[in-house]
Amino acid sequence: MSAETQSAENPPAVETHGFEAEVSRLLHLMVHAVYSDKDIFLRELISNASDACDKLRYAALTAPELIADDGGFRVAITIDKAGRRLTVADNGIGMSHDDLRDNLGTIARSGTSAFLSGLSGDEARDVSLIGQFGVGFYSVFMVAAQVEVVSRKAGSDEAWAWSSDGSGSYTLAPAARDGRGTTVTLTLREGEDAFLDPFRLRSIVKTHSDHVALPVVLNGTDGAADETLNAASALWTRAKADIADETYNEFYRDVARAMDKPWATLHWKAEGTIEYSALLFVPESRPGDLFDPKREARLKLYVRRVFITDACEALLPGYLRFVRGVVDSADLPLNISREMLQHSPLTAKIKAGLVKRVLGELEKRAADAEAYAAFWTNFGAVLKEGLYEDFERREQLLKLARFKTTKSGDRLVSLAHYVEGLRPNQTAIYYLAREAAGLAGSPQLEAFKARDIEVLLLDDPIDDFWTAMVPEFDGKPFQSVTRGALDLSLIPEVDPAAEAEEAPQDAELGTLIAACRQALGERVKDVRASKRLTDSPVCLVADDGDMDIHLARLLRMNRTPGLKDTARILEINPRHALVRALAARATRPGAAEALDEAAWLLFDQARIVEGEAPEDAAAFARRLSTMLTRAVA
Ligand code: ADP
Ligand code: MG
Repeated sequence: MSAETQSAENPPAVETHGFEAEVSRLLHLMVHAVYSDKDIFLRELISNASDACDKLRYAALTAPELIADDGGFRVAITIDKAGRRLTVADNGIGMSHDDLRDNLGTIARSGTSAFLSGLSGDEARDVSLIGQFGVGFYSVFMVAAQVEVVSRKAGSDEAWAWSSDGSGSYTLAPAARDGRGTTVTLTLREGEDAFLDPFRLRSIVKTHSDHVALPVVLNGTDGAADETLNAASALWTRAKADIADETYNEFYRDVARAMDKPWATLHWKAEGTIEYSALLFVPESRPGDLFDPKREARLKLYVRRVFITDACEALLPGYLRFVRGVVDSADLPLNISREMLQHSPLTAKIKAGLVKRVLGELEKRAADAEAYAAFWTNFGAVLKEGLYEDFERREQLLKLARFKTTKSGDRLVSLAHYVEGLRPNQTAIYYLAREAAGLAGSPQLEAFKARDIEVLLLDDPIDDFWTAMVPEFDGKPFQSVTRGALDLSLIPEVDPAAEAEEAPQDAELGTLIAACRQALGERVKDVRASKRLTDSPVCLVADDGDMDIHLARLLRMNRTPGLKDTARILEINPRHALVRALAARATRPGAAEALDEAAWLLFDQARIVEGEAPEDAAAFARRLSTMLTRAVA
């Protein structure tokens, strides 16, 4: 960021600042990409004005003098036909010189940064991304050739003017303004005169900003009277029957800073021991900050219509952080601090009420499998965090969970559905947790396929954690297919011929296993004949009490301190042609060296299938070449 500095003798003049690089990219898109819904710039300006009034109302709780001269908050729109200018003014909290620089030259919002890092340079794709995330103030450059923001912070006498044509830089200069607040003046681009038409403005405000709680007034021109264009009452206080779906949707877009639609809208008033109104939304697409490490839920909290904070994480657990909306409490004190909020028993009660309602809604909506699958695809990975976090609601969350399985194809199935399909004598719920890429082809699934046993395929990192915590569903224990000695002998294979197929002599196999143990030493915990494999020669499994393979890999990737490298069990498939050949050879004299090499190749092969690198890549390559040479020679 560059600022032309002024010499001390001269009065401060115009400063020129470059936009942050990310803002420039965004502005370029705004100006050059034709986003179909240009109208929304007005919603963004009104939303900012309304936020600014909310902030001042809150600040005035402790500093009432800030609004002593003017307590009637409003947004005023003025049309200047001759000058082709449109003005949106508020009497909210205003911005200082530094606020203007920090807020209108950089990108502070986490969601927006995520959005920007997702930009591809492909304009069509990028514009559709804009459609998902919303870009706030900068959207004015879709319709304006020049934008001036004159602002005076409440409690200050200074006003500053921020000005830009949206290309590369902006200026900051001292200015004058009657009273506190912010005035945004757009000089419209060629061809955008429609935004000077009162009919058009009236319809845009009605469509996009009817939910705004303060009056949005169109200043009368040519002797016409001022006109309030919106309903001007807090949406959550209105009766459900009076609220159009589209008004709910616009309110959602405003609180969520999003451009999509809500997947679910929940609006209710709790009465009884505690009183509050809530208007909550489950988004239709993933918010940009969904996997932010802070995992904070963000609801807007109001106390009797006065905005308190828009980052109230105490009202929802982390596993519902995708929910957006507003809670207005009648019982919390107006002067509540964020610190007090976290620990207030009232907050805890409201939280319990919100969770109950949201989960209840999910239960209801789960009846529509297709719509619910859309929700689950977006937020299932987050909701599953509740399985290990929220012991009290574990049963309920297990019922809400959906899974891909070895039999489900593109569908998602519930655990109840899984349990209905248990094979005779099957007592456990089998799952395989690993990266999506290797999931379906894992050798550990072979015995299950041979017996037509369904296996849950888990590929969210969170799956490794909850499965370690949740013992069972409907009396059936969860069992990882990559851990422990597996005994499926009570469940017959589908193809009895395959089952009857001859396995190598016990003595020969025993010799091979002993040779592998000898060769691999401490690198494996054991080598044994597998009951898991039908087609692959080898696989690795975790011993009963040990950490599952994929979880250990996740923790290793995260450099978890104190993590020990656990040796695994190498299982070999007595029915595989390679194993038979090796076993036959094992008892012949002079086989030791070849067996040693083969053992390492088998071990490395099992590692590779598991998604790991061979122990020693160079040695692996050398052994493979030697073997191949022998085979083709
Ligand atoms: P957002 O509203 O999501 O924070 P915007 O791009 O719409 O993002 O606005 C950026 C920031 O600029 C706001 O967070 C706010 O701090 C400031 N701002 C914008 N308009 C106003 C206004 N009318 N009054 C006070 N501050 C404003
Ligand atoms: Mg905004």
